[in-house]
Amino acid sequence: MSNSEACQAVSAAPPTATIIDGKHIAAELRSGIADVVRSIQHEHSVTPGLAVVLMGDDPASQVYVRNKGQQAHEAGMNSFIHRLPSETSQVALLTLIGMLNADPVVNGILVQLPLPAHIDEKAVLHLIAPEKDVDGFHPSNVGALAMGEDCLVPCTPLGCVMLLKRQLGDLSGLKAIVIGRSNIVGKPVAQLLLREDCTVTISHSRTRDLAHECRQADILIAAAGRPRMVQGSWIKPGATVIDVGINRVAVADGKTRLVGDVDFDSASRVAGAITPVPGGVGPMTIACLLQNTLSATRRQHGLTAS
Ligand code: NDP
Repeated sequence: MSNSEACQAVSAAPPTATIIDGKHIAAELRSGIADVVRSIQHEHSVTPGLAVVLMGDDPASQVYVRNKGQQAHEAGMNSFIHRLPSETSQVALLTLIGMLNADPVVNGILVQLPLPAHIDEKAVLHLIAPEKDVDGFHPSNVGALAMGEDCLVPCTPLGCVMLLKRQLGDLSGLKAIVIGRSNIVGKPVAQLLLREDCTVTISHSRTRDLAHECRQADILIAAAGRPRMVQGSWIKPGATVIDVGINRVAVADGKTRLVGDVDFDSASRVAGAITPVPGGVGPMTIACLLQNTLSATRRQHGLTAS
């Protein structure tokens, strides 16, 4: 069969991959978290508290923050949302973080990114007390993750690995490729995969022959922010594909829709399992934020995991 005949045969084939239902798995995780919250309230009179700081009026950030507050509330947690005008000074923002660090009813602090240009993002993230850093961005937590120590881990990477373990069980010895090397997704997800004893390749915009690198991988995590970049022909047959990308693209009639970094139609004919966008990694991110808030609360109160 020629190459073009092979391509046509693949594109005509029906989707065969298992669709990993992140929405359902995240709902189960949130329900388990709510059970534990109820039990620590009952046994120890402790209610986890999550503080979210939102600066400015970015519409996407407003939606994310509202969802975070609502889901924390539904899990039985206290949610404290601090909405600050975009012209708030750096000093005022740092003062608020200091107050949240000192507040005993706040167990987790999240500052919604991006911050306005006049704010030094690093200074803000570094001021958050590491034990309340439920986003896992503080250098203490980043370092602990790299050293394989127990720590608060960034939410999206944590969600990716939970989905993988749920789908594949033991990940030990599997070859994984991560597309993207950001501090928020690419690097921490690679560290977590290493912790699971995967053999990990981290790729980025300078990687040569990315398609070839991808074809070696049993696990492919796409976090490049490039709509539908990863084609079915890049995927090793039967591989598990986790699509982190969230890209808004134009469709007919001036409308837009969300797509991932993976071309779902072609990839779902080659992969063994794949996450959709939306409904894959996205819902896991907030569920993992609640998981981190619960873990932080337990550690702060010396409560062991049940
Ligand atoms: P960044 O823009 O910070 O990083 C993108 C990474 O992808 C960079 O390391 C970049 O390489 C790499 N990259 C870009 N183009 C290519 C290419 N053509 N080939 C190979 N690598 C490439 O993005 P984030 O990590 O913050 O986010 C990635 C995606 O995940 C986005 O779509 C974002 O919206 C989404 N996201 C989804 C979340 C969720 O909850 N589902 C949460 C967070 C992010 P280099 O370093 O060389 O520039």
